[in-house]
Amino acid sequence: MQDSLLEMETGSLLSFDRNHIWHPYTSATSPNECLLIEKAEGVHLQLHDGTKVIDGMSSWWSVIHGYNHPELNQSLMNQIHKMAHVMFGGLTHRPAIELACALLKIVPDGLEHVFYCDSGSVAVEVAMKMALQYWHSKKMANKNQFVTIEKGYHGDTWHAMSVCDPITGMHHIFNDRLSAQYFLPPPRSVFGDTLDENELVEVDEVLKKYGNNIAAFILEPIVQGAGGMRFYHPGYLAQVKQLCKKYNVLLIADEIATGFGRTGKMFACEHSGISPDIMCVGKALTGGYMSFAATLCTGNIARIISGGNPGVFMHGPTFMGNPLACAVALESLRLLQKNKYNISRIEQLLKQGLYPLKNNKTVADVRVLGAIGVVEMKENVVIDTVQKAFIEQGIWLRPFGKLIYTMPPFIISDNDLQSLTKGMHNVITKLNN
Ligand SMILES: *Cc1c(COP(=O)(O)O)cnc(C)c1O
Repeated sequence: MQDSLLEMETGSLLSFDRNHIWHPYTSATSPNECLLIEKAEGVHLQLHDGTKVIDGMSSWWSVIHGYNHPELNQSLMNQIHKMAHVMFGGLTHRPAIELACALLKIVPDGLEHVFYCDSGSVAVEVAMKMALQYWHSKKMANKNQFVTIEKGYHGDTWHAMSVCDPITGMHHIFNDRLSAQYFLPPPRSVFGDTLDENELVEVDEVLKKYGNNIAAFILEPIVQGAGGMRFYHPGYLAQVKQLCKKYNVLLIADEIATGFGRTGKMFACEHSGISPDIMCVGKALTGGYMSFAATLCTGNIARIISGGNPGVFMHGPTFMGNPLACAVALESLRLLQKNKYNISRIEQLLKQGLYPLKNNKTVADVRVLGAIGVVEMKENVVIDTVQKAFIEQGIWLRPFGKLIYTMPPFIISDNDLQSLTKGMHNVITKLNN
């Protein structure tokens, strides 16, 4: 009786969801199936029927310390008793100051100013706006285009979308309405292999030819995430930095997915030993507790913008510097420093568990970097079928296109990580038949 009531209720909740709530990248009228999650703890998501699955996605890169974390919870409770929110225009508060202080200690050298944003896409908008306003302030407003590499992803808002991969970003839908940008081929030299210097010749040519019209080069350092899950050579980024300098183009590093340890370094720029002029962080910034991001820039950029006309940076979201978000982000940074996660442990286990799939005839490539494991299939996967099979294996993954990938929470135990890769192995080898 109790059970059937529970079932009925769940069924009607899910049908309301299906009929009225739009989920990411789905149809409103025939959406993919959604699972009802009742709670989450550590690395586990608990479904409405009590089933527990290991979260292999960290809720899109963000939940690095796991769910329902006592210290992150406590930081929010402490803050909520002081103030949940206060406007940031003309007012400031300790969480914002302490977080900026903590961030500036760990980011690449030269970044000195922090602009708080409400989400990753907004952080990218802010970065692009900063670059444009920098050249405007220098009376070089003709430098108003951006250059990027294909297979990138920078968010779904308007200007962020204009620098996403034109194919996976579905630019054709918005035809002439997106700003035209310069697209370079994606880096071909992969992480861990040798660098093909010819790739940089193409970069040099484009910057030489169009540099006078280019405000900034924007890219994801080392790992191209949602645009293709590709890992490229650190030498490529190091030379892009040099070429940007040579042709007077700013470098924007989008560390929204890679930041806070995911690639084995605190920031992926460290693989190349470079500092960008502008950097975006988000996703894991709050340990996955709330939507929050930041755009950081050098002292030089801040000074030029502030010394120009109008002399102020024209951006200021209502929830800028939200104290709850700052407090939980600060605690997340403390945990990162305290826990000293061993990312190479995760990397080794991902390699052990996933590399054998290279021999499978349906698999095109398997790659692992830091706490990221990617199995690229030869064909697109049918998401509903594959997702169901993963749930049967006790794991949660959300493939897209040909990509089945995982970036688990850093707290995952060896056992759970082995269950995760075993589950991937079992499902992928069955796709053979
Ligand atoms: C997710 C992501 C964004 C967008 O962040 P949102 O918080 O989803 O707006 C931008 N850039 C990169 C590299 C991302 O991975």
